[in-house]
Amino acid sequence: MNIKHIIQSIFKPREQLQDEVVIKFLQVLENIRAEELTCSETYARLDEFVETEVQSKDADKITPLIREHLDMCPDCNEEYEALLAILENTK
Ligand SMILES: [Zn+2]
Repeated sequence: MNIKHIIQSIFKPREQLQDEVVIKFLQVLENIRAEELTCSETYARLDEFVETEVQSKDADKITPLIREHLDMCPDCNEEYEALLAILENTK
């Protein structure tokens, strides 16, 4: 079973899917993934995120993608907690 068959079985079991539709669907999936941060991207922006949070507590609104990643990723969350502890102690 290839991806085209999978998509077809989800959306239109009785109709023959056009390649164009399959490609569009894959592009949508690609876009969703592109909005998720990787660990290294999160790590690179973590300092900034924690600083914003310590100063204004609005970091979630400014960079929701980082918060989202932290919620899903225990490794990065640990890093975040450590940074936060350091910053709070040096205020
Ligand atoms: Zn991570």
